Amino acid sequence: MRDRITPLLTEAQIRTRVQELGAQLTQDYAGKDLVVIGLLNGVFPFIADLVRAMDMDLNISFMQVASYGGGTESTGEVHILKDLDRGIQGRHALIVEDIVDTGLTLFKVGKLLRDREPASLKVCTLLDKPSRRKVQVPVDYVGFTIEDHFVVGYGLDLDDKLRNLPYVGVYHP
Ligand code: 5GP
Repeated sequence: MRDRITPLLTEAQIRTRVQELGAQLTQDYAGKDLVVIGLLNGVFPFIADLVRAMDMDLNISFMQVASYGGGTESTGEVHILKDLDRGIQGRHALIVEDIVDTGLTLFKVGKLLRDREPASLKVCTLLDKPSRRKVQVPVDYVGFTIEDHFVVGYGLDLDDKLRNLPYVGVYHP
């Protein structure tokens, strides 16, 4: 499996960019009641590094959704496998994602969460593949914009493996 991967983002590049994002978020959310919402499973390394780069009080909560249809392309129909532990009404909410591809997952999750009336709702993603977008979703903070590659590592999987790679690479089937 690992012999089919070519490196795209090194550990050092990721670390530097995550520190920058953390500093920016610390500034933007200063004095605000913030809940950081991680979309499982792929987000776990990114969110762990990101919140540790944020010098402020915040809550962390996780949500897990699944797309109907399966495969590597999402259909946009999502159902909730795990919901947030607490309400977000009146609070500033930041969705954290590993990658935004077609945008369908984020579109649905965004709608779900907006219905709960947070004070604000923004999105931070490690990776963005804008060339693949099927629905326009605002993405407020982007780690890296990448070409249309299938990437693995740093949380991103292939058949639920390779999430533990410390870097991001392109998988060549
Ligand atoms: P979207 O709904 O934006 O099309 O898809 C978002 C989800 O699809 C991501 O959270 C991720 O699980 C999966 N995904 C999209 N592109 C890639 C990719 O290049 N590699 C991996 N491993 N997963 C991806």
